[in-house]
Amino acid sequence: MRSRFSAFALDRHDYLLASWHPKTRPDSIETNGTIQWMRLEILGSETQGDSGNVHFRATFREARHWQVLEENSRFVREDGRWYYLDGVPSVTRLKPGRNDPCPCGSQRKFKSCCGR
Ligand SMILES: [Zn+2]
Repeated sequence: MRSRFSAFALDRHDYLLASWHPKTRPDSIETNGTIQWMRLEILGSETQGDSGNVHFRATFREARHWQVLEENSRFVREDGRWYYLDGVPSVTRLKPGRNDPCPCGSQRKFKSCCGR
């Protein structure tokens, strides 16, 4: 299931669609070229038989605006493969200060990292 999130970060739409459950899969994924995925954190995951979920937080940047998307995604296993079913994303705007830790996860201060 985790590989799906790396795909998100890398904009691998073909993989995303292939791992999306046919019941909820969109015909295509709109590409928004201005979004840069910066960081991905898996906050938790669990499986129960053929269903599972992954709670994740993805930090992205759109021009100079930082935002965090958090979602608890549901997955289902069919014929040994995991498929993304659905999830309700919530998006929060970030306002990193110059001396705050950089939201990209570099452990450096924002002003000496992405905030330069
Ligand atoms: Zn940074």
